[in-house]
Amino acid sequence: MGNDKEYQADRRKFLVSMGLAGAATIAAPALKTMAADSSTVWAEEHEIVIIGSGFSGLAAAIEAKKLGAKDVVVYDKMPYFGGNSTYNGGLFAVPNSPLQKEKGIKDSPEIMAADQLKAGRGVADKELLLHVAEHAGEALQMSLDAGSEYFPYLQQLGGHSVPRTYQTTVASGGGIIRPLVEQCRKIGVKLVTRAKFDTLIFDDDGKVIGAKMLMGHYFGRDQEGTPMNIKTKRGILVATGGFARNINLRQAQDPTLTEEVTSTNPPSATGEALLEMFKIGAIPVHMAYIQTGPWASPDEDGFGYVSNYSIYNFAHSISIYIKTGKRFMNEIADRKTRADAQLSCRDDNGDPLPPITITSYIHAKEHPTMKKVLKYGVGWKFETIEEVAARFNVPLEPLKAQIKEYNGYVKSGVDEQFGKPMEKAKGKFIEAPFVVVRNWPKVHYCQGGVKIDVQARVINSADWKPIPGLYAAGEVTGGVHGVSRLGSCSIPDCMVMGMTAARTIMKS
Ligand SMILES: Cc1cc2nc3c(=O)[nH]c(=O)nc-3n(C[C@H](O)[C@H](O)[C@H](O)COP(=O)(O)OP(=O)(O)OC[C@H]3O[C@@H](n4cnc5c(N)ncnc54)[C@H](O)[C@@H]3O)c2cc1C
Repeated sequence: MGNDKEYQADRRKFLVSMGLAGAATIAAPALKTMAADSSTVWAEEHEIVIIGSGFSGLAAAIEAKKLGAKDVVVYDKMPYFGGNSTYNGGLFAVPNSPLQKEKGIKDSPEIMAADQLKAGRGVADKELLLHVAEHAGEALQMSLDAGSEYFPYLQQLGGHSVPRTYQTTVASGGGIIRPLVEQCRKIGVKLVTRAKFDTLIFDDDGKVIGAKMLMGHYFGRDQEGTPMNIKTKRGILVATGGFARNINLRQAQDPTLTEEVTSTNPPSATGEALLEMFKIGAIPVHMAYIQTGPWASPDEDGFGYVSNYSIYNFAHSISIYIKTGKRFMNEIADRKTRADAQLSCRDDNGDPLPPITITSYIHAKEHPTMKKVLKYGVGWKFETIEEVAARFNVPLEPLKAQIKEYNGYVKSGVDEQFGKPMEKAKGKFIEAPFVVVRNWPKVHYCQGGVKIDVQARVINSADWKPIPGLYAAGEVTGGVHGVSRLGSCSIPDCMVMGMTAARTIMKS
């Protein structure tokens, strides 16, 4: 503890030398970090302050209230709630779930964490993965209690060894966010939009005791907002999501992720709160691991309709390299494996040649997104394979031979080409008529962020101890998933770590 005090005293001395201590009432300090003193004017005080209204922020608010918190406020910089979580596909991985038990699927938190560790190329945080998997059922229950509805079947997404993924009946994270927002309102959580977090404020002991917010902020318009210092009694949870839409920050990690590489994320995913935490000593982890989604389409903006359509259909479809008419990947490998394989599909000049994914119409139509894909012209129906080959300029005979070969794997249950698990393809032969979409990866998820411990406390680079009063959950945290996150594993991560943060804060 003595060392802690010394370090915090040194940090305060440093800030004083920078002319920053006592700068809480200055509108635009040169370096934004702020130390509070007697001149600090507090506009409001709340028991718990949560920044960000996605899965992690809302789950934390509900859990805190459940544990007896009287005064919880959630701020969001946008004019609406939910961030990435609303855009989300509503796919939610839960091991040992009621549906798995009903369908006789053997699973466990250990098996789910092992799948994630494998996709993360071994550098994921095993302790956090296990913690999330062990509590994922509680998060699912929180959403059900709030009123979320799920399809009565499970999907097996790429990289998962068994079917364990629920999906909301609206095939969107909105099917979770809307009920959580309603639940927050019902139990008296204060929800504030257009409130942008700007700066953390700490006391003489280095404890985070408040935040400078810009109220009435208007994202994307020239309206920064009115500065207000908000004090907290118990702590601040930063739940501000990833930085996929911050081109400078993502290019600083990976120069190939230029402006031309589009993203599935909403414009709010800019990561400034992350940088703010780095400033006060939080540890950056895995910032260069930025995931691209292999189910996205070059024929529409953002996540669009094709992503959800492909996620559901890949298990019983074939992806074809247009130049050869042959498959080039396991259609349900982990995301990185598939995105890398797709990015290698090039024409003779080295330009992108997005592969096509062919699904039998009879199976494609089982998912509600197919209608939208066809309606909005981002996928097409064909009566014969000859039509498919002609439309996309694929060599016909190799394509026919590939389909015949693949249908043999459907029959035998063993994919001798790419080792794809064929359980979900059972009996689903590739037969006319067909639905075809094109796929090309888009920036989707940031595995990097601040280091937290299993209690959602933000760890300090100076002494490897938690920064007092500061907690983080969700995509703003780093290192949980390693090199590549498995699909449907962010919802459990965000909600469980939000709930965990609330439990830790309420014990503090
Ligand atoms: C299109 C799409 C589909 C996806 N589908 C799935 C899926 O099906 N299953 C799955 O598991 N994962 C999926 N993901 C990933 C998952 O949705 C995200 O990782 C998750 O929503 C992140 O939640 P969060 O709570 O960490 O942050 P977010 O949901 O992004 O919320 C962060 C909030 O913080 C606010 N904010 C940011 N900065 C500030 C600031 N300075 N001040 C105040 N507020 C701020 C933002 O406006 C935002 O509302 C998908 C992602 C996308 C983009």
